[in-house]
Amino acid sequence: MDCIFCKIIKGEIPASKVYEDKDYIAFLDLRPVNKGHTLLIPKKHYRWVWDIGAESKELMAIAGKIANAIKKATGCHLVAMTVVGDEVEHAHLHLIPRFTDDGFKGWPGGKYEDGEMKKYKELIQKSL
Ligand SMILES: [Zn+2]
Repeated sequence: MDCIFCKIIKGEIPASKVYEDKDYIAFLDLRPVNKGHTLLIPKKHYRWVWDIGAESKELMAIAGKIANAIKKATGCHLVAMTVVGDEVEHAHLHLIPRFTDDGFKGWPGGKYEDGEMKKYKELIQKSL
């Protein structure tokens, strides 16, 4: 299957992973709406997060844990949790740090300077 997220899961495409367990991984979005913007995805290919079914309880628990880590790592005032879903057809949840004055406009996102992804990845990992 030609799915970019499945390729990330298999390690065929590099990603700045902040979290991984047997069923889920989370990594930094390459085009962050705000820096620290993280994608949480199931390792099994579902089209939508709501297709996961009863196990989505686990997804929400992990999302909460990562959201708290993003909050701690970035000093944001809240973490927006959202499904957009028309970009990559593999279920994913966006976890986006929000700041009071960020003038949130959503997509398209910005980008990281050299070395910044590594910094954010490490900050979030340390806060988990
Ligand atoms: Zn996939």
